[in-house]
Amino acid sequence: HKESSREYRVLSDFMEALANDEITFYLQPQCRISTSKIVGAESLARCIKKDGTIIPPNDFIPILEKYGFIIDLDRYLWEKVIRWLRSWIDQGYYAVPISLNISRADIFAIDIAKFFQDVTEKYNIPHNLIKLEITESAYVDTSDIVTDLVKRLRSMGFMVLMDDFGSGYSSLNMLSNLKVDVVKLDSNFLNFKADEAEKGIHILESVVNMTKIISIPIIVEGVEKEDQIKFLESLGCRYVQGYYFYRPMPLKDFEEIIKNEDNLDMRGFIVKTNEQFRLREFLDRNIYSDSMLNNIIGAVAFYSLHDNCVDIVRFNQQFYESVNVPDFHDKLLNIQNVMPEEDRPKMFKALEDAKKNYLNGASEILRFYKLDGTLTSYLMRFYYLGQKEGNDRFYGSANNITDLMNMRQKLELIAKYSSDSTIFMKKRNGIWEYEVATHGLKDYFCHDSETLQKEFKDRVFHLRIKDYHESDKFGVSLRALREEKHSINFDEVLRTDDNRYATFNFDVCYVEDSTTDIEFIMTIRFKNYIE
Ligand code: C2E
Ligand code: CA
Ligand code: CA
Repeated sequence: HKESSREYRVLSDFMEALANDEITFYLQPQCRISTSKIVGAESLARCIKKDGTIIPPNDFIPILEKYGFIIDLDRYLWEKVIRWLRSWIDQGYYAVPISLNISRADIFAIDIAKFFQDVTEKYNIPHNLIKLEITESAYVDTSDIVTDLVKRLRSMGFMVLMDDFGSGYSSLNMLSNLKVDVVKLDSNFLNFKADEAEKGIHILESVVNMTKIISIPIIVEGVEKEDQIKFLESLGCRYVQGYYFYRPMPLKDFEEIIKNEDNLDMRGFIVKTNEQFRLREFLDRNIYSDSMLNNIIGAVAFYSLHDNCVDIVRFNQQFYESVNVPDFHDKLLNIQNVMPEEDRPKMFKALEDAKKNYLNGASEILRFYKLDGTLTSYLMRFYYLGQKEGNDRFYGSANNITDLMNMRQKLELIAKYSSDSTIFMKKRNGIWEYEVATHGLKDYFCHDSETLQKEFKDRVFHLRIKDYHESDKFGVSLRALREEKHSINFDEVLRTDDNRYATFNFDVCYVEDSTTDIEFIMTIRFKNYIE
């Protein structure tokens, strides 16, 4: 009795409010994460009493829905929004698309498509300025009526959004049968409890993946914090609606914001784009062969970790070919034994890191022995999969970088044993940058490469010993070099760290190579002390 008299009061209050013009809409902007600019807005019902109290929709909408009055509210608000759009455009402003909420009960009450056809005609509003949000649960049963409506609305040029996706019955099947333009993800996914964070992230990830498989853009609602934004971005979500950017606001406030076109992202929702490559598209369709898949994903293996031993439990052809060790199959267990002892802790550390950071994994350069005793180097990346039979499971890629590492080692040897100092010079934003490649003159000045890099300009360019030379050889020579593009060789006297004077020979070459922005290579050699 109490409950139904409360409902009765809400209903009669609502009728009164409608008659008194106390029902209106707030607007909440929807933003592109990358620019923080507005791509659209959602209209949200508010009942504002004469005394200024604001009644939120959750207090009256469920009851209006229950008793069949929601269509009266919605029709009223939909037209109000569309009328406002007309007046806004008439004032010469740029209009953003507005989302309108459609309740399940609305769909059974009137012919929605006809309503919007008529009202947009009446106010001469282009259909692409109207987005219609239909809540996910509306699609569940009696779905033919809803799917037909969605089809009709979209063929008329209205954008259709599936609201509250993930709150109830969503499945990949439903999404692919039912073609909507944008999916709105329920904010509940973001409200993880501390101890359920892992689960929440996985759910969110798979829901986002579901929408990606069928190339549907996604707006996430209820985003309040910066770390949520960062995380959503890393998942590939590009649009959000939430307190982080804007709260729902009265029309007047909204107008002030969108008057300034700097706040707007005119591109709106980009529905079809050159999306990131998605492996799932391949996995979900059987037309692609195994070898094609393997070519795409490269060398991959699955690992099992138990009592400080690592086994390879599965691997693909690419992995086998890339590893290329004789008797590979005999070496799958205890792979830590075929690596140098000093590399083993690195592998265990990487696995530990991968377990902690299951979104981004962890990588490490690891070396393995070949049969002839030589070493091969791999850039290994590990991702945590979870536990199986009490062991931690990982998967990851392995790239043979032996050639690269050999080259690096040779360069390191040159840097270590060269008796010259070599400096790469390039210009960035009009300022010369000096990068020390080798510093063999460390006994004479600037005792290590970092110091030389830092002090190069002062020590070598500016603090030359004025008494010992007449002209600005550096300035002249660089200018000449740039114009004539050859190399130049001259002597300069520098003060050494032990406060003596010495002649150094400078060799400056112009680098003619479009694959690098290095313009000169300067080699400095010691000649002799001056007494
Ligand atoms: P909804 O369509 O899912 O709308 C989003 C709700 O999330 C809004 O609540 C909005 O104010 C709230 N919200 C937005 N950003 C944040 C955030 O960062 N944090 C949190 N905690 N909440 C955020 P609101 O305005 O109270 O509306 C509640 C629901 O009432 C709506 O959920 C919608 O289902 C319904 N509704 C609102 N206006 C209308 C309407 O005109 N017609 C119909 N049929 N339903 C409406
Ligand atoms: Ca909504
Ligand atoms: Ca929603």
